[in-house]
Amino acid sequence: ELAGRGGRGGPYRVEDVTDCLFCRMVAGEIPADVVHETDRTLAFRDINPQAPTHVLVVPKEHHPTVAALAHADPDLLGAVVRTAEAVALQEGLATADGVEPGYRVVTNTGPAAGQTVPHVHLHVLGGRDLRWPPG
Ligand code: C5P
Repeated sequence: ELAGRGGRGGPYRVEDVTDCLFCRMVAGEIPADVVHETDRTLAFRDINPQAPTHVLVVPKEHHPTVAALAHADPDLLGAVVRTAEAVALQEGLATADGVEPGYRVVTNTGPAAGQTVPHVHLHVLGGRDLRWPPG
């Protein structure tokens, strides 16, 4: 059952908005420090930043993991990645014709990887030298 369009637009299910933190941010029910928005995606600053730039990019529609999104709506996955690029450009982490200084896009899937919110989100991290491998 689709509930229609929320405060920031996009179809969603009633139970998703009730239960899901990021659905509620998309709906405008919980405040978010939004840095970029498109018709299908939202980017906002992480409340517990791990780098000078730490932005989360989400599809407005609820999908639990990046793999689930890739199966359900590959175009929307592309839109989420393009929004991550737009965030990197506006945060000065890359330029239209180059990848300096650079940034990291990471998405955690499942408890062993530390996924705490079951609404797919890309972490966009930058503004410092990032170590590899991550912890
Ligand atoms: O990969 P993971 O699922 O753990 O990422 C969730 C992210 O959401 C965390 O980095 C956490 O700091 C962030 N968060 C947030 N605002 C909240 C709750 C969590 O930015 N209200």
